[in-house]
Amino acid sequence: MTKHQRYYRRNRERRRQERRDYYKRNRPRERAYQHRRRHGGPVGFTPEEFEELCHAAGWRCLACGVETTNLTPDHVIPLSKGGSNDIRNIQPLCLSCNSSKQDGETDFRKGVAA
Ligand SMILES: [Zn+2]
Repeated sequence: MTKHQRYYRRNRERRRQERRDYYKRNRPRERAYQHRRRHGGPVGFTPEEFEELCHAAGWRCLACGVETTNLTPDHVIPLSKGGSNDIRNIQPLCLSCNSSKQDGETDFRKGVAA
């Protein structure tokens, strides 16, 4: 065996070990990514669910009643106050109401048939 072959062999073994360690270290993180992918990622509701909500509201802003297709999802309980990203915490508001609402907790959904 030449010097070169010995070097190559040792190096190959080390690389294999490094790859094993890499997977061992990163498996939990990889699982978390898979979990998030399976459960819809950081956004808890789907665009379809939000569209359904707008449809149920008659494509009107729940705050001012303006009819618009430009409704935006608003958190009834803000995320900063522990609200969830679930569709049950979402109400459709027009852009101006959504931006003027800021961090308030106003549920405009009362009286709207779900
Ligand atoms: Zn509005």
